[in-house]
Amino acid sequence: MSAADIANSNPSGPNPDGEPLLRIRDLKVGFSAQNRVLPAVRGLSVELSKGEVLGIVGESGSGKSLGMLASLGLQARNAVVSGSVVFKGQELIGRPRREMRSLRGSEISMIFQDPLSSLNPVMTVGDQIREALLLHNKNMSKAKATERVLELLQLVAIPQPDRRINQYPHEFSGGMRQRVMIAMAVANNPELLVADEPTTALDVTVQAQIMTMLRDLKEKMGLALILITHDLGVVAGHADRVAVIYAGQVVEEAEVRELFANPRHPYTRGLIASIPKLTASKEKLYSIPGAPPMLGALPEGCAFHPRCSFAQDVCRKVSPPTVELGRHRASCHFAESLPSWDDTSRTAQSKERSHG
Ligand code: SF4
Repeated sequence: MSAADIANSNPSGPNPDGEPLLRIRDLKVGFSAQNRVLPAVRGLSVELSKGEVLGIVGESGSGKSLGMLASLGLQARNAVVSGSVVFKGQELIGRPRREMRSLRGSEISMIFQDPLSSLNPVMTVGDQIREALLLHNKNMSKAKATERVLELLQLVAIPQPDRRINQYPHEFSGGMRQRVMIAMAVANNPELLVADEPTTALDVTVQAQIMTMLRDLKEKMGLALILITHDLGVVAGHADRVAVIYAGQVVEEAEVRELFANPRHPYTRGLIASIPKLTASKEKLYSIPGAPPMLGALPEGCAFHPRCSFAQDVCRKVSPPTVELGRHRASCHFAESLPSWDDTSRTAQSKERSHG
């Protein structure tokens, strides 16, 4: 298969039967401790169409990575998982680990934050990509695999692939190592790529290059992409839709432009206000006050109420309903009545919290 074939192999668009590529429904993940199950993911529901980019955003500890790992059968052994994860019409929850292993690396791939710990330091990058290929293509010859490795290195814009193929991970920069991981992840032409904090360890310029490259690959290969990140700014220019997660639940979901133009959940507003502004270099960087709740110590009512400047009595007692406004949904008692949002409200929120 040539680079051009690779590039055209998964044309994007809705599945013929109109079903999403991936549908996660009411996913729950908990951990057994002291005769009870501590909930970490509490009924996560998202879907993704072929060729779409979904950003999953939340602070560390929100359950975003855990939920996606459990969806792909990568949860810890003591995790209790329930709900439904349907990929291409097939239920994944409850499938044997062996089958899930075969699915991962072929139809579904993942890349993680730290490429150095995912790469083997004593194998050349060429051997590692070749291994990923041969694992899922038993009949592929070594020569053919090497040819494909060179194509893949080219596809992820590694200069001088003929020379680089024989080098070890420590001879690559952080950004180049992430490119190698991406080459390995797309080696078997997956339909879904899950990228968990793919740029967090990289500097801003390299971050932008990697995000642009992922977006280009998605266009060329028709990949569906899930971007998991704590930084709403990372998904701003790259996702089609965004699901914001707090305390193991989606609290808001919308198309990316709609979410930034009209955030209906105070937590989302806080995340937007936390994105550094290029024009405000002297302003103190905003961060949402407090911290996400601990497992097993969820507050009553809305889980966000101890940190929310809009909280009322009802928020402390009653879980908010999910309000659906077209393709925009938000779980807040006041989703339809919060003050309107524009750039001044963002600045006001930053100031109020910075000085408060
Ligand atoms: Fe804030 Fe209440 Fe909405 Fe929760 S339900 S986000 S506490 S306003």
